[in-house]
Amino acid sequence: MDQGEGIRAARAPESVGAPMRRLLHPVALSIVALHLALLALGWWTLNHLVPDTLTLNLFGHVRPVHEVHRRVIDRTIEISLLLPAIFFVEYLCTGWTQSSVRHLLVDRTASGWSDVACYIFQLAPVFTLVAGIMSLGVVYISGEALRCLFAKATGVDLSIAGAPLALQVAAVFLLYTFFDYWSHRLDHSKVFWPLHRFHHSAESFSVLTAARVHPAMFTAVVGAVLPGLLLGCDPAALVYMGLLIIIIRLLVHSRIESNFGWVGRWIVQSPLHHRLHHSLNRMPINLGLLPIWDRLFGTWRDAPQQAMRIGTPAPYRHGAWFVPDMWRDYREFWTGLGALAAKRFRRARRGETPTVTVSDAP
Ligand SMILES: [Zn+2]
Ligand SMILES: [Zn+2]
Repeated sequence: MDQGEGIRAARAPESVGAPMRRLLHPVALSIVALHLALLALGWWTLNHLVPDTLTLNLFGHVRPVHEVHRRVIDRTIEISLLLPAIFFVEYLCTGWTQSSVRHLLVDRTASGWSDVACYIFQLAPVFTLVAGIMSLGVVYISGEALRCLFAKATGVDLSIAGAPLALQVAAVFLLYTFFDYWSHRLDHSKVFWPLHRFHHSAESFSVLTAARVHPAMFTAVVGAVLPGLLLGCDPAALVYMGLLIIIIRLLVHSRIESNFGWVGRWIVQSPLHHRLHHSLNRMPINLGLLPIWDRLFGTWRDAPQQAMRIGTPAPYRHGAWFVPDMWRDYREFWTGLGALAAKRFRRARRGETPTVTVSDAP
């Protein structure tokens, strides 16, 4: 366990000018300038040297690839813009000593290495393939495609496409966070916990802990498919909603020791509230990205003003080679599911009524 994540006394509040001093630090300014220069160079190279349509020759089959510029931008916007921005905001709030960048590059704990490895794994195209196989194709289901099929068959299509973009983004964001809450609540049920436990195995937070997810994402049916199945909107609204979700996920796993005051209690989850969710007592609390869902369904708890121990009592080897951990959890999931099915089958034969709960804390 990273002792830096242990329970520690609340620090004295920082002066208001601390983030500004960090912003104006020569090293910070140089890094920002270098980053912006690299982004500008990348942008210029993409637009001037890379054609927007490429022709691929695959085993004798000539295949054109259109909209190359948009594809490259879509794929790199998170790593080139969002991630550095969140790292930088975190640095402004915490300073270099507590920052994720220092934690990942200098401290180099086994748990931190798992975060880095998981993030790189998620960026690799093979992740989609592995996730598809392990989740038996569930991650390939598209809510939008199902809604179109349903609309064609029945003539019923609930869509807000054409409404003001901000309204669309707000509506799909609310809908997504609602289903994400229930998806996460399902993750904490006895059956799905072995797969979600991998995320909770982090012994220290870093911005990249957000990427520590098991590829067997069965519960994604609830969180990712149902919103698109129920409500249609312009593709641009989905893009903006997706960016908002990524930003919140990265922020709540940051090392910023703040409960965000009334914002964290009512508007959006704070890092300390999420840390309470990751705490060792494994209570299924603070599950939603928005506190409103936890408050509505009775799972909200206010966060203490200080960092607390996080992790899970299950043994994890951590480090960059996370495959044995993932595989062990995957086998435990199927074993648990098999045992539950056998138990239900025996009960059914005896004529007993099964009870179903989604918040069976493991
Ligand atoms: Zn959780
Ligand atoms: Zn988390």
